[in-house]
This record gives sequence, structure tokens and C-alpha cells, in this order.
Amino acid sequence: MPDCIFCKIVRGEIPSYKVYEDDKTYAFLDISPVNMGHVLVIPKKHATDIFEIEEAEWNSVTSTARTIAHALEKALAPEGINLVMNNRQKAGQAVFHAHVHVVPRSEGDRYKTWLGKGFSEAEGETIAEKIKAEL
Ligand code: 5GP
Ligand code: ZN
Repeated sequence: MPDCIFCKIVRGEIPSYKVYEDDKTYAFLDISPVNMGHVLVIPKKHATDIFEIEEAEWNSVTSTARTIAHALEKALAPEGINLVMNNRQKAGQAVFHAHVHVVPRSEGDRYKTWLGKGFSEAEGETIAEKIKAEL
């Protein structure tokens, strides 16, 4: 995709702090990290999000994300690590080239996760059946 910023990073047209690449994936520092060492893992082949990415490309991305998490663990000894993927604008996606965030965490870093909601037994059964029907 000519105008995609992450495709430009893969092509070397925009600079990045690359930490890893292989034939299918590229990993580099997020320009605006939650904490230092926040890495983005992307497929080299453009895909918008989890719905567009091919299974083989996605499997390569998750494998690289695991490799990066292990490297961060050794390099930075973070208190924790989150793997995050935002899909579509309403889910917080700002760059429409699929990417997984590998985020080293530290106490008080103010990164927010969700506030849990409750549900009834009937609601649980209904939603589980609805999902299972598509699998
Ligand atoms: P999203 O919200 O789409 O899941 O995350 C996009 C991420 O890309 C953000 O965390 C943002 O800081 C990062 N980002 C946006 N533009 C650039 C860029 O040009 N270079 C790098 N390294 N990161 C970027
Ligand atoms: Zn792209």
C-alpha cells in the first residue's frame, strides 16, 4: 500500500528503530510508547486488521510477538507485559496496517485496561451459543 506509514517503514522510506525482522514480519519501537521498550510487530505484507490478515501471516506475527516478549523480559525485566491489538477505529486503531503491541508494564504507568462488567447466567449462555454457532 503506497500511502500506508507502516508499509513505508517496512520499505525503509520512514525511519524506525527496528529490533527484529524476518521474511514475513518486522518489529520496531512504537514512536509514542506506554513505556520504553514498547514494540510493534507487523506483517510485511499489508493487511488492514485481524479480519483481512491471512492466517499464515497472522501466525508469523504472533510468533514474532512471543519472541519479542521473551527478549523484553530478558532485556528490561519488566513487571509485566501486555500483548494488544486494536482492530478498527472504535477499538482504538489509528494505523490501518495490522499490528500487535508488545508493551512492557510497570506499576503506576497509567496504562488502562477495561472495567469489567457483570452478566447473568442466561446472557452468558446466549452469547456463548451465538459465538459457538460461528465456529
Ligand atoms: P493503534 O492505535 O493503531 O493500535 O496504534 C498505532 C501505534 O502506532 C501508536 O501507538 C503510535 O504511537 C504508533 N505510531 C504511529 N505512527 C508511527 C510512526 O511513524 N512510527 C512509529 N514507530 N510508530 C508510530
Ligand atoms: Zn501497510
